[in-house]
Amino acid sequence: MTKYIFFTGGVVSSVGKGVTAAIIGQLLKARGFKIAIQKLDPYINVDPGTMSPYQHGEVYVLDDGAETDLDLGHYERFTDTNLTRACNTTTGQIYSEVISKERRGDYLGGTIQVIPHITNEIKKRIALVAKSTSAEVVLVEVGGTVGDIESQPFLEAIRQMRSDIGRENTMYVHVTWLPHIGATGELKTKPTQHSVRELRSLGLSPDLIVARSDHPVASDLRQKIALFCDVKERAVIPLVTSRVLYEIPLLLEQMQVADQVMARLELTPRLQPDWSDWEKLVAEVRRPKPPLRVGLVGKYVELQDAYMSVREAVKHAGVALGREVEIEWIQSMDLEKGHSWERLRAVDGIIVPGGFGTRGIEGKISAARYARENKVPYLGLCLGMQVLCIEFARFALGDERANSTEFDPSNPYPVIDLLPEQRGISDMGGTMRLGAYPCQLVAGTRASAAYGSTGVVHERHRHRFEFNNAYRDELASKGLVYSGLLLDGNLVEIAEVADHPFMLGTQFHPEFLSRPNRAHPLFRAFIAASIEHAAARTLPA
Ligand code: GLN
Repeated sequence: MTKYIFFTGGVVSSVGKGVTAAIIGQLLKARGFKIAIQKLDPYINVDPGTMSPYQHGEVYVLDDGAETDLDLGHYERFTDTNLTRACNTTTGQIYSEVISKERRGDYLGGTIQVIPHITNEIKKRIALVAKSTSAEVVLVEVGGTVGDIESQPFLEAIRQMRSDIGRENTMYVHVTWLPHIGATGELKTKPTQHSVRELRSLGLSPDLIVARSDHPVASDLRQKIALFCDVKERAVIPLVTSRVLYEIPLLLEQMQVADQVMARLELTPRLQPDWSDWEKLVAEVRRPKPPLRVGLVGKYVELQDAYMSVREAVKHAGVALGREVEIEWIQSMDLEKGHSWERLRAVDGIIVPGGFGTRGIEGKISAARYARENKVPYLGLCLGMQVLCIEFARFALGDERANSTEFDPSNPYPVIDLLPEQRGISDMGGTMRLGAYPCQLVAGTRASAAYGSTGVVHERHRHRFEFNNAYRDELASKGLVYSGLLLDGNLVEIAEVADHPFMLGTQFHPEFLSRPNRAHPLFRAFIAASIEHAAARTLPA
């Protein structure tokens, strides 16, 4: 029988419910269990693919092409498990499924109601995770906080699951926030008490309460929460905000969280957890390291969550190469207006990440020009690769009009364009090249050196436009190198500039496959080139 751990949030959102679920998953995996994690998102969008990054942060893409919540990134990074489409479900998906069944007549004239039709569909989707991943323990995070109107059907569905499959197969973890009152210097438990009361009124009792806080939680506070919320004191897990995110698994291990989970779900560990590699990683993260400054030129830099996986991938590569990487967040529109150039000139490597739409594009192109002309390491991710190609084409063809048809549909040199079969598609949702595709590396290139391979790698995509093969030979003759090609597909996946220490762009998003103790090879190569660039700059002339 599959075991389920449900995570709900209290008081406020954005306090680390997703990270907590990911880490408890990691603790179980370390004990030899096959796990999967699912996020239930109460919003009515079908998926986050069409949502503004300002609203939602990054859209995280899975191997199978699902466009998901950024929490799935935490799940994959902490547990080093590749998840599937079933691992992110939204109210939008549930309702569209139920409504199309109703239109087909599947309900034989019945009246369709939230209970049981919507809740049954939710339970079906929860069950699908175990089926599609063969996980033995499924961790399910309910988005939002208890008390939201939108999340009620989800809470009702997870409540029903306790009687459907038994108490020994279901566990409930409530993640709350302890506010700090500056005037008296105290932490307050009242909002936690209220949210647990709200949870109980819905028929759910927490087995574990994770009390998040920015300040140390004294033991009398733990007792108080235990008393008012009717759990054992050891089931109240104080979790203070940590500067080192990757340290939290070790902290939760010390607090014997996994033992409580095992006991509650009647499981016996299959493996003695071995944290030695993870401890080394945390020690390396904590060790003071020489700084390295890298610029990220993007459109959504005010909300860094929009670049969550890029930021993590940069961090992983920095730790692997012994550098404290500081990201200089540069708004591409500022560059267009002649601002922020001194900040760009101060960095030792430039990243242009993914993005959509015209705004700020010329700023990114000028950043790429600066990188090419000044031989500053450059890593282009998806849109950043297209920007690299557009800038190179403007230089090589001697015409500033070269562009992508996304930004200028009638430009005379469409070096980035839709494939003929894509024209005429007008829907915005789910109409992109999505998910993992095989990329054949080309020997003798920087990409192949970075991967240490001349074979095939699988990388995740999320884009509509492609490099236009009509320009392939001409730009190659001027020094653009195609170092990765879609296997059997004749599409450019990686492009690099020949006469440059490291100027490389990928049509895919390598950031989604970087892991804390397995930095992605391309990020590693980019950081290594940036370290060299920094060293050359500081050498006396
Ligand atoms: N807007 C570009 C495209 O659709 C790039 C997308 C991206 O960077 N993810 O092809």
